[in-house]
Amino acid sequence: MARRRMIYEGKAKILYEGPEPGTIVQYFKDDTTAFDATKKEVIEGKGVLNNRLSEHFMTGLNGIGIPTHFIKRLNMREQLVYAVEIIPLEVVIRNVAAGSMSKRLGVEEGTPLPRPIIEYYYKDDALHDPIVSEEHIFAFQWASPQELDEIIQLSMRVNDFLSGVMHGIGVKLVDFKIEFGRRFDNDFSRIVLADEISPDSCRLWDVETGRKLDKDVFRRDLGSLTDAYTELATRLGVMPRKSSTGTGPKLVK
Ligand code: UDP
Repeated sequence: MARRRMIYEGKAKILYEGPEPGTIVQYFKDDTTAFDATKKEVIEGKGVLNNRLSEHFMTGLNGIGIPTHFIKRLNMREQLVYAVEIIPLEVVIRNVAAGSMSKRLGVEEGTPLPRPIIEYYYKDDALHDPIVSEEHIFAFQWASPQELDEIIQLSMRVNDFLSGVMHGIGVKLVDFKIEFGRRFDNDFSRIVLADEISPDSCRLWDVETGRKLDKDVFRRDLGSLTDAYTELATRLGVMPRKSSTGTGPKLVK
C-alpha cells in the first residue's frame, strides 16, 4: 500500500492526508504526555480507547446539530475528519474548580462553580499555552468577534450535552478542553468543533466515589489509565463489559 502523506504529528495524534480533497485521517497514538510533555509514557491501548470515545461523543454532538469535523471512524486507531483551519485556542469549560484554576486562584479542588466558566489558552508549546482574554484574541486576530461568539455558544451546548451524558452514567463532568476550526465552503467559512473529545482532555469524577476516570490518573500516578478509560467506555456502552467467565476458546479434555 502506498504510504500516506503525513501532514502533522502532535503529542497524541498524527494527521494524514485523507482519501478525498478536504479530508484528513486522524490517527490516535498510545503516547501519553503531561506537564508540557515533561512526563511521557506509551500506554498500550489508550489510542484505541480514545478513538472510540471521541467517535462516540462527536457522533452524539453531530446528532444534536453541533457541527464537528468528524465524518466516520475508519478502524481501531483512525477516523476520517474534515480538514479545517485550526483556531489557535484551547477552549476550557469548567463546572467545578480543579487543576490550573484551583492553583491559580486558590480555590479548593472540587468547589462547584455557580455557573460554567470559559477560559482561553493560546496554543503555543514554546510559550506553554498561556491563558489569554478576548482582548488578546481580537487584537491578534486569532478569531473574529463573530467567530468567538459562535465558539462560546457551541462550547456551552457541548458542555450541556456532555454533562448530561456523563450524569447518565454516574460521572461528573468537572472540566474539559475543546478546539475549533474553520471549515471552508467556497468563500464561506464556518466554525466547527475539531480535534478530539476524550478523557485525555476532560476531568471526569465518579459521582459516588470520586474516582477519577481521566488523564489525572496518569498525571498524578493514581493507577492504570487504561482501566479508568475502559471503565468509562464500558459505562457508555462503547466497549462490552468484560465477562468474568471468559468467552474465549475452551480447552477440551
Ligand atoms: N487540558 C487539555 N490540554 C491542555 C491543558 C488542559 O486537554 O493542554 C484539559 C485538562 O485535561 C482539563 C482541562 O483542560 O480537563 C483544564 O485543564 P487545566 O487548565 O486545569 O490544566 P491542567 O491542570 O491539566 O494543567
